[in-house]
Amino acid sequence: MPPFVLTLVVPVFNEAEAIAPFIETVTRVFNGQTTVNIEFVFINDGSTDSTLDRLLASQRGDTRIRIVDLSRNFGKEAALTAGLHVACGDAVVPIDADLQDPPELIPEMIEKWRQGNEVVLARRIDRQSDSWGKRASARWFYRLHNWISQPKLPDNVGDFRLMDRRVVEAIKELGESRRFMKGLFAWVGFRTAYIDYVRPPRETGSTKFNGWKLWNLALEGVTSFSTAPLRIWTYIGFFVALISFVFALFIMIKVLVIGRDVPGYASLMVVISFLGGIQIMGIGIIGEYLGRAYMESKRRPVFLIRQIYEPGQIMALRQKDFSGN
Ligand code: UDP
Ligand code: MG
Repeated sequence: MPPFVLTLVVPVFNEAEAIAPFIETVTRVFNGQTTVNIEFVFINDGSTDSTLDRLLASQRGDTRIRIVDLSRNFGKEAALTAGLHVACGDAVVPIDADLQDPPELIPEMIEKWRQGNEVVLARRIDRQSDSWGKRASARWFYRLHNWISQPKLPDNVGDFRLMDRRVVEAIKELGESRRFMKGLFAWVGFRTAYIDYVRPPRETGSTKFNGWKLWNLALEGVTSFSTAPLRIWTYIGFFVALISFVFALFIMIKVLVIGRDVPGYASLMVVISFLGGIQIMGIGIIGEYLGRAYMESKRRPVFLIRQIYEPGQIMALRQKDFSGN
């Protein structure tokens, strides 16, 4: 087997405690493997704790570690994008720093990659480590997303996966600035294989994704890959109009047969408020897309780099070379 470079792209946001155990675990997993040259690309996503100091400390005496320091917190999707732009490996694995994506799986992924697969997905067969609410909302999100969006997202697959250099190049080509990585990963296609694993609980620290952040991520996912929520209003509008028409006919016939009705204040209020609600919802959904089109039209870079720390030297690269587009 010829030697090759494997890049681990690790977005970190306030993960000071996780850095050392993560590097140790990876080192242990690849101990004695001579064909795999590991490259760590840590993306410091605007951490406010000592994450950057810990990273720089780990880098001293470890030439495998490269650090990309973003100018602020851009979010995990942008941090991953930054990492993919900087990664040099023949194969690239985005992985969380908290050891919830077990590095022990990577040799198995490499095996599958060697057999000619360009993407190797790690599928969670058991999410007991996630809360009930998170599992339920994830299940519903995938169901809704895959119902209305193309291409389908594979079930229970996170960002943890191995990608061939060709896949990474393809993803770098995608110009959108609002990035839902799971969707983009699925969109590019390529020959794909799976391995299954049980997702362990977090080793240190706490999750950076609260309910509101997850909701927004889900909204991003659906609106990035489907226009069904926009189009559905045509049908809802038609359906409501149809019902109103039938109702009007009904009233007219009733007046002709029975005579004048008692003025229906209550039913009028119900119809008006119901239609009002539907209209506002429709406008809201149009707003979601309009907002996204607006943000997209600005063509701002996805992330800004303050500095890239290369092992053994400190090099300030101009961000224009690495801005997302
Ligand atoms: N992360 C990041 N920027 C953010 C939020 C999270 O880079 O704004 C990183 C975080 O440091 C971790 C990974 O993304 O390495 C996954 O985050 P977390 O473990 O909190 O997510 P969960 O596993 O709970 O879904
Ligand atoms: Mg985690």
